[in-house]
Amino acid sequence: MSTLRLALPLTLLATTAAADVNVYSYRQPELIAPLTEAFTAETGINVNVAYLEKGMTERLKAEGDRSPADVILTVDIARVTEAFEAGVTQPIMTDTLKENIPAEFHEPEGHWWGLTTRARIVYASKERVAEGEVTTYEDLADPKWEGRICTRSGLHTYMIGLTSAYLTHHTPEEATAWLEGLKSNLARKPQGNDRAQVKAIWAGECDISLGNTYYMGEMLADEEQREWANSVRLDFPVFEGHGTHVNISGVSLTKASKNKEEAIQFIEFLSSPKAQSIYAEANSEYPIKPGVEISELVASWGSFTPDDISLADIAANRAEAVRLTEAVDYDG
Ligand code: FE
Repeated sequence: MSTLRLALPLTLLATTAAADVNVYSYRQPELIAPLTEAFTAETGINVNVAYLEKGMTERLKAEGDRSPADVILTVDIARVTEAFEAGVTQPIMTDTLKENIPAEFHEPEGHWWGLTTRARIVYASKERVAEGEVTTYEDLADPKWEGRICTRSGLHTYMIGLTSAYLTHHTPEEATAWLEGLKSNLARKPQGNDRAQVKAIWAGECDISLGNTYYMGEMLADEEQREWANSVRLDFPVFEGHGTHVNISGVSLTKASKNKEEAIQFIEFLSSPKAQSIYAEANSEYPIKPGVEISELVASWGSFTPDDISLADIAANRAEAVRLTEAVDYDG
């Protein structure tokens, strides 16, 4: 028995001795399990995941140094930056992460890193909206769209993300005029989620809506919602002279991490081509690493040029975006 032990290669002994990585995740088990399994198969390091619906930042704050979490997985720049601003993350900067993740998709010091992108684009009725009719985000405030647009609440994080991006390209006065124009073009008061707007297009209530790209994949995978999805086309508006608004899902190393080395290994793995492909396939998102192939389904929706504004700059405009959205009473 003891001779067998001694015969074990050093590397195997090292991996056997490695600590587990503990994760708090807002992302769903169906998406995360294939990633953690692939990581464990490759490294021998176990990953324990606690799936949370809400309250992650509050929980990390309450747990303080005693928190078991090493890594947090979040969705949307709003939640990604919330943890950072609450002081529960720590910066990491490695060559692998810098190589895999473009600068506009991470916090400058490395407090958070984007792992996937999703575009916030226009769902357009195939029947009632001509190809090429949707052009820019600015144009959505034009009276030609009067009574033809549906959106969810202007205060939802996805809408605030878009308005924050608008503020990186325009003055607050221009953003206010845009929100007012968009509001006056609405077919109904903001309500429901992104998919509910597509249902409204299918039902003939409006002609276009704003939504995140991956919901097309989710609707197509659902028997009832497939009809809604098939009634629309994805159009990719741009900011005048720039690109299409994208948001991210992201990852951070917690300030309290006890298994830092293994945690960083896991985070680097998530940015690798292998993990990026799993993300792209499982949730119809776009890989953050340039050059990683997107899924065939996602590719069929069309291509676009992402806006080149840094997500950190967009995040910095969130408070202003909320203030303006409330000032124009967008949801009222
Ligand atoms: Fe979503």
